Amino acid sequence: MSFNASAFVEKLRSVVGDKGLITGDRDKHPYLTDWRENYLGTAVAVVRPASTEEVAATIKLCAAENVAVVPQGGNTGLVGGGMPHEQGREIVLSLTRMNRIVEVDTIGYTMTVEAGAVLKAIQDAAAAHDRLFPLSLAAEGSCTIGGNLSTNAGGVQVLHYGNARQLVLGLEVVTPAGEIWNGLRALKKDNTGYDLRDLYLGAEGTLGIITKAVLKLWPKPKDIVTSWIAVPSPEAAVELLSGAHAASEDNVTSCELMSRQGIEFVLKHIPGAVDPLAEKHDWYVLLEWSSTRARRDGGNQGGLAEKMEAYLGETMEKGLVLDAAIAQNEAQARAFWALRENHSEAQKREGPSIKHDISVAVSKMPSFMKDGLAAMKKALPEGRPVPFGHVGDGNMHFNCQAPVGWDKKRFLEHGEAISGAVYDIVVAYGGSISAEHGIGRLKVDELAHYRSKIELDVMRTLKRALDPQNIMNPGKIVRT
Ligand SMILES: Cc1cc2nc3c(=O)[nH]c(=O)nc-3n(C[C@H](O)[C@H](O)[C@H](O)COP(=O)(O)OP(=O)(O)OC[C@H]3O[C@@H](n4cnc5c(N)ncnc54)[C@H](O)[C@@H]3O)c2cc1C
Repeated sequence: MSFNASAFVEKLRSVVGDKGLITGDRDKHPYLTDWRENYLGTAVAVVRPASTEEVAATIKLCAAENVAVVPQGGNTGLVGGGMPHEQGREIVLSLTRMNRIVEVDTIGYTMTVEAGAVLKAIQDAAAAHDRLFPLSLAAEGSCTIGGNLSTNAGGVQVLHYGNARQLVLGLEVVTPAGEIWNGLRALKKDNTGYDLRDLYLGAEGTLGIITKAVLKLWPKPKDIVTSWIAVPSPEAAVELLSGAHAASEDNVTSCELMSRQGIEFVLKHIPGAVDPLAEKHDWYVLLEWSSTRARRDGGNQGGLAEKMEAYLGETMEKGLVLDAAIAQNEAQARAFWALRENHSEAQKREGPSIKHDISVAVSKMPSFMKDGLAAMKKALPEGRPVPFGHVGDGNMHFNCQAPVGWDKKRFLEHGEAISGAVYDIVVAYGGSISAEHGIGRLKVDELAHYRSKIELDVMRTLKRALDPQNIMNPGKIVRT
């Protein structure tokens, strides 16, 4: 039976109404291209359901007519997972209208939300109840919890609270057959067979659509101290972190490493960015400690700032710290964070770059950095390495900016050589070629190359069993 696109669109309209349907080319465009503008796909329509039932009815229609479904949240993903293909019969299923905070349970420290709720709105709702939802990343103003859970997002507080997988108790999911699985259980203990929840987390929309989630909350910190620290090397950064766990009484919540090259880009491209230190240094650490214990006098005394000052003094004497600034107020802390969080935006404005979202064990990070930087330089001597990221949990954005004056086409001719050199070293160190962004479309070949046959076989078996028609985000993670 041949496919009649306009008749199909009318069937979709009968499910989601005019408000839930986008069919015009101009209006569809933002859903068909990604943040980095690496992809430009096509879709029969962009469908924006308002409820789980509408999602289920949409999927049933798609299954009946063999139309593939590309789930999408805030479209901030960096590996093309939420992008439809350039050809084929697909819809984009955007969850952004399903953005309600359903319930905050302050007694049980949980929150139930719809999948399209924006991460920042979730953080704010938790804060309004004197609670913390600790997932935090630079795209938090537009990414959605459905996208965060589907990519098992990391961010800047993983070393203390864990990644998205550790922050969720229950899920509601629409399966590729259009059935609704209600797993919205707020249980900390539940050993009743296979953990279905864990299957969908990090599945990048290839196994089903997450429509709701029960999230874990924590007490809101009452004392936070943020420092901007110049260090001589990544080795010193890791040693500084190691000692900080005890010095802070186990209150290290973020530890980010940046190179001078990245800071130069931020200072050049981001209006209002200011270098906190008088002298230039090769490496910087942003170290944050936070505690739920309030400062005794409302000032620094007895609080984390006092402990941080003592620790930085001590580590300076040992040569681990070259210079440092402790934020004196929230505005200063935000300015430090902006230097870190604007790295991706500044790199984008500087021009083409190749990104590697890798992880190795924290203790192996210093020698990985040495070997990795040497390999990157060898692959393209004129390339400009920009390593930055979550050193506290072993995750580096080990990026390479194009040589000055090179266009994207010329630079990308060296892409395979650069990435191959980096990934070979990552694997030799027992690391991961995708620490937090996922596989999406971008790394399907790399996953097939670096994961073992048995791992790939199990992934494909799962995919075929749960989505026998292969309509759920096909071509992402693994090819079946
Ligand atoms: C400036 C910047 C900084 C970033 N920093 C970080 C960082 O520190 N840590 C980090 O982990 N990531 C980071 N990211 C990547 C990105 O923000 C995360 O991957 C985020 O979790 C994606 O959420 P989203 O709602 O935008 O998802 P989308 O981009 O819309 O989708 C991502 C994937 O999830 C699937 N998906 C989306 N919603 C659903 C759903 N409801 N059900 C099933 N599948 C779904 C999509 O099909 C796709 O495969 C950053 C991105 C930017 C632009």
